[in-house]
Amino acid sequence: MLVYADHAATTEMSETAIAAMTDAMRRVWGNPSSLHSVGQEAKVVLENAREEIAKALRATAKEITFTSGGSEADNQAILSAVKLGAAKNKKHIISTKFEHHAVLHVLEKLAKEGYEITLLDVHENGIVDPEDVRNAIRPDTALVTVMYANNEIGTIQPIREIGAICRERGVLFHTDAVQAIGHIPVDVVKDNIDLLSLSAHKFHGPKGVGVLFARRGIRLATLIEGGAQERGKRAGTENIPSIVGMAAAIKEAVANLDANAAKVVPLRDKLITGLRKIPYSHLNGDRDRRVPGIVNFCFEGIEGESLLLLLDMRGISSSSGSACTSGSLDPSHVLLSLGIPHEVAHGSLRLSIDETNTEEQIDYILEAVPQVVDYLRKMSPVWEDLESGKRNHFFAK
Ligand SMILES: *Cc1c(COP(=O)(O)O)cnc(C)c1O
Repeated sequence: MLVYADHAATTEMSETAIAAMTDAMRRVWGNPSSLHSVGQEAKVVLENAREEIAKALRATAKEITFTSGGSEADNQAILSAVKLGAAKNKKHIISTKFEHHAVLHVLEKLAKEGYEITLLDVHENGIVDPEDVRNAIRPDTALVTVMYANNEIGTIQPIREIGAICRERGVLFHTDAVQAIGHIPVDVVKDNIDLLSLSAHKFHGPKGVGVLFARRGIRLATLIEGGAQERGKRAGTENIPSIVGMAAAIKEAVANLDANAAKVVPLRDKLITGLRKIPYSHLNGDRDRRVPGIVNFCFEGIEGESLLLLLDMRGISSSSGSACTSGSLDPSHVLLSLGIPHEVAHGSLRLSIDETNTEEQIDYILEAVPQVVDYLRKMSPVWEDLESGKRNHFFAK
């Protein structure tokens, strides 16, 4: 059986998105900046897509800037806030220890340039405490950036509360909502969001395209100089087929939000209940405050990479952390931020499912994972030490 359970890394394009894209590729090849009718036809299609995407977030079209994906949107959001802050001599940024690298690596670079960065703890349950944000805000704070839902463990952050605190204190608030959009309801007005990043390939749209939402009146800094596309904030001829595919995918995902969740949540819960039966296993992140499809477990005494490869041999696609950290020997910074020790964090498995998965597939996963964990433990010197009492278990049996 083939089971794709790595939807947090990327998703298959939906038929709706493919149809919208191929139609755009055939019909709408004009340059939207051209003044003739072929160009203006492309311009209409581009602006309709912008309207559609704005509607899905409860934003307005003017607040939507197209980017090459989530990473670019994160970079542009942070650097825009930094530029606005610098004009007022504000050089302090608040974020969390378990952000995506598209946020953390920008902050590391800014730290080297003299910015002061406060990275908040996320506590054992993988959730940021809004009061921690309130207490960290200083008169020179230029930006608070906290992700909407974590890509490795799936926990949902109290974005509305954090946004309200930022609004009250006059601090810009950005959220990386890449794992939230198309999976849980997001409303930029109610959620008090100033800047938001999203990426199409995480909700059955194409890769290489995303959006930066910036609330009216927030002046974006440019990362790419050139033509006057995107109101002068992002140069380069627009990727119309991908943008059209993204609009179709977001419309479909948002229209089916409740129906999809009703299908995915019971499958996820079955997965959690089944995997918890494995001795010395641990569900990472809050049991309930999580997106419908992401489950992340640690199994003591094994290596996540070996588990992933053996599951792949049985047709199951999973992840041992984020795609960006695989290939490196460091355990996931997300799991470390939850207070899980290095050697235990190495034994992690992320399964991310969605509405395209079936109950038979969940049963197949629940048959395979305990067998593979058992097999790996039998060969593991660490497990031997745990069993003989030379080493202490971290989790309960
Ligand atoms: C995937 C992801 C990104 C990066 O998006 P790309 O479009 O692949 O650049 C950023 N943040 C989070 C939380 C993600 O899951």
